[in-house]
Amino acid sequence: MTAVAKNFIAGEWVEAHEAAPNLNPSNIADTLGDYARGSAADVDAAAAAAKAAFPAWSRTTPYARHEILKKVATEIFARKEELGRLLSREEGKTLPEGIGEVTRAGQIFEFFAAETIRIAGETLPSVRPGIGVDVTREPLGIIGMITPWNFPIAIPAWKIAPALAYGNCVVFKPAELVPGSAHALAEIIVRAGVPAGVFNLVMGKGSVVGQRMLEHPDIAAISFTGSVPTGRRLAAAAIQAEPMKKIQLEMGGKNPLVVLDDADLSIAVECAVNGAFYSTGQRCTASSRLIVTEGIHDRFVAAMTERLSKLVVDDALKSGTQIGPVVDQSQLDQDLRYVEIGRQEGAKLAFGGERLNRETEGFYMAPALFVEATNQMRISREEIFGPVASVIRVKDYEEALATANDTAFGLASGICTTSLKYATHYRRNAEAGMVMVNLPTAGVDFHVPFGGRKSSSYGPREQGSYAREFFTQVKTQYTLA
Ligand code: NAP
Repeated sequence: MTAVAKNFIAGEWVEAHEAAPNLNPSNIADTLGDYARGSAADVDAAAAAAKAAFPAWSRTTPYARHEILKKVATEIFARKEELGRLLSREEGKTLPEGIGEVTRAGQIFEFFAAETIRIAGETLPSVRPGIGVDVTREPLGIIGMITPWNFPIAIPAWKIAPALAYGNCVVFKPAELVPGSAHALAEIIVRAGVPAGVFNLVMGKGSVVGQRMLEHPDIAAISFTGSVPTGRRLAAAAIQAEPMKKIQLEMGGKNPLVVLDDADLSIAVECAVNGAFYSTGQRCTASSRLIVTEGIHDRFVAAMTERLSKLVVDDALKSGTQIGPVVDQSQLDQDLRYVEIGRQEGAKLAFGGERLNRETEGFYMAPALFVEATNQMRISREEIFGPVASVIRVKDYEEALATANDTAFGLASGICTTSLKYATHYRRNAEAGMVMVNLPTAGVDFHVPFGGRKSSSYGPREQGSYAREFFTQVKTQYTLA
């Protein structure tokens, strides 16, 4: 029997009472090993250790934290091929995408290593005589992190790095589907010299480990990325908690990509294929609604189906694969169910949508492109989170913009056009946290704010120096001079 990968609590690798296997979605005969499945008691132990560690950690010099984060970045960069391979094997991203994600995690740690020494407050005059006012930033205390499976190293990195940079302690719960990438990241953080109790990894189920994190009175804040339904539940629990918890929720999307008559067709097709289908469509920023004006509609659909017919769907680790498998059986079932829903609603499949068989047994599916979809159909309103996209035909720019904004989500929004007038108008009027012009909705940088509007996000933005708004708290100090 192979050893079970352990949780990391109070400076020690500790066993849990249960374990769960970790499967390769490209080849279910290949298991990555067994991983600890933690309990509520493990969360309690992690929180107690973090509470004990916080006073000293929050007073370490920024430069000491800078050194630790820099070491984490250096090791991630040095091992990016190996970690990228692990990520692809565990989650099903293609190897170039896996290595790209690992590199991004390294860049995030590097960025926040530098941020540790940029933290600053303000000194202001008082409106009353003889009084000085200082506004300072302090860490929050213990922050619980609950992350999804689709970016198993980059998303934990963009929460853990700022938390540690600004002097907080961490209890980290990765998604149960992807403990391997989380465990590897934890090993690197531990090796970089983070003191006992400052960083804790508790793998396990959301309904057990995540639930206890929400209830625990010493966990001051929760940074969550995942679906809207889970986010809503977390928000309600955080408000009911005593004391109330600060929360940051990054959730789903139903992101539009508008293609206007004047667009460069090859750019539009690349944006749509990349945005809708790379990472097997399993991105919160995926362009799942392709809103296309009449004059280019037929040429766009013809070029898309031609391009999709050439995409290689196969084992994520095979060289030449462009689309890997879906992450697991239940996600594949959901994707196929939505293909059926789309058909029943009256949309027509222009390409794909069927299960595929490959040399190894995995969760393969042909990317699905619907045409003759409307924005009122469920396939246009609900997040599918797989390789399924719909083309919605519209008359003109005005209808395209109104359709793009007619959604409960507001994460990313894109437009392909050669018109400066429309590009400028769209940048100003798209109801989304991120707007892309002649670029896929799914490509973002690591050093600028990431997040959405409406039901896609709740609370301060992640990434870049804006992360400070969540990971620190402000104190206004009045002193009689
Ligand atoms: P999910 O089902 O909402 O799960 C997210 C995390 O919440 C997992 O760690 C899960 O644990 C945990 N969880 C589930 N129930 C919980 C509970 N009752 N209490 C506490 N924690 C609980 O989402 P997912 O399927 O992993 O990820 C896909 C979703 O994430 C999509 O909606 C996607 O759009 C969104 N996403 C958003 C962003 C963004 O930045 N906006 C980025 C990536 C993904 P277990 O799974 O281990 O049970």
